[in-house]
Amino acid sequence: MKPLASRVKAIQPSPTVRLGTLTKDLQAKGEPVENLSIGEPNFPTPAHIVEAAKRALDEVPMTKYVSSLGIRELREAIAEKSRRENGIPAQPDNVLVAPTKHCLFLALMALVEPGDEVLMPDPGWVSYDPMSRLVGGRPVPVPAADEAGFVMTPEAVAEAITPRTKAILVNSPSNPAGAVFPADVFRGIADLCRDHDLYLISDEIYEKILYDGHHVSPAALDGMFERTVTVHGFSKTYAMTGWRLGWLLADKPLLKEIVKVQEQTITCVPGFVQRAGVAALTGPVAPVETMVAEFRARREVALQEIGKIPGLEVARPGGAFYVFPRYRGSTPSLDLSERLLKEGRVAVTAGSAFGAAGEGHLRISYAASRDSVRNGIRAIGEVLSKR
Ligand code: PMP
Ligand code: GLU
Repeated sequence: MKPLASRVKAIQPSPTVRLGTLTKDLQAKGEPVENLSIGEPNFPTPAHIVEAAKRALDEVPMTKYVSSLGIRELREAIAEKSRRENGIPAQPDNVLVAPTKHCLFLALMALVEPGDEVLMPDPGWVSYDPMSRLVGGRPVPVPAADEAGFVMTPEAVAEAITPRTKAILVNSPSNPAGAVFPADVFRGIADLCRDHDLYLISDEIYEKILYDGHHVSPAALDGMFERTVTVHGFSKTYAMTGWRLGWLLADKPLLKEIVKVQEQTITCVPGFVQRAGVAALTGPVAPVETMVAEFRARREVALQEIGKIPGLEVARPGGAFYVFPRYRGSTPSLDLSERLLKEGRVAVTAGSAFGAAGEGHLRISYAASRDSVRNGIRAIGEVLSKR
């Protein structure tokens, strides 16, 4: 048979999604595994959000095709939130509703020509590299490791820029290290975008899971709205991973191109799911505050337990729900994570999944319960003590 497309041969399955599914399957079979692998809040979706979707299921238009951009009510709520909280000059016509992952893909589809270079932090989230390849681009890792506090500095970005550079991907608070990029870093990166005529894709999905520092939306900086795609979503903030709901913001000429890709692929996000999004953005904030307070407490549990393990060194994350400790020795992180699963019954993600600079690290998600975080990290300590 003829070979399959080289674009799919060139990428690997998502390590986070794979491991998360494998661990859930093991748990379903009654195997006692602590799941600190996937970034998925263990809370149920808040009741008022679920109720809004249930009510919408009884309204005929909400179970039919809806606007490709998203229902008006949700786009208004998103634009209003973006102006009020983020200082982004967004109107409903600047909003497109899609799963967050798909938003990133749509943005890359609209921006990247074959051979264009896309700069991204290393370590950085697992899907940035393969998504850039799928659209024909060339991912260019920019060092953002331990020495840099896991922040992609403007100096490092400047060094990576070439005449083929088209876009820069930023993510703060970050996955996998929970780094919060300071405002001057964003200002420096914005200057580079303007000076070199580059686009910026800002993945802000962890905006609300923030413990230290302030969130900066680069689209709010001078002259940046027209060259920034802001990507955001409901999964992490509202414990809505399974709803597949997120959004992007872009200036109208760019959005006009992006929406074509949405129309030619998924058409739209289900209306009743979008109604849940309206309830999330306009309803009570207490459930989010409670969840973030719990993540904050789990961060302390994780740091305390890691602190007891000789050979692990960890930076204090300012946001998201991950810690990214470095371990001593030269064992590949993939081998070590497999050993932890087999011998310690604890699932964590190998640091190498996040790029070459992630090697020598483990990503531990504390989106799981306090007990799981405590027991899982203790199990890591036991396995490491036997090395
Ligand atoms: N960006 C980052 C940094 C993430 O960690 C994730 C993981 N969920 C996503 C985007 C995608 O989010 P979603 O699952 O809501 O599509
Ligand atoms: N983003 C989460 C993670 O890093 C969920 C899985 C994924 O989409 O990568 O674990």
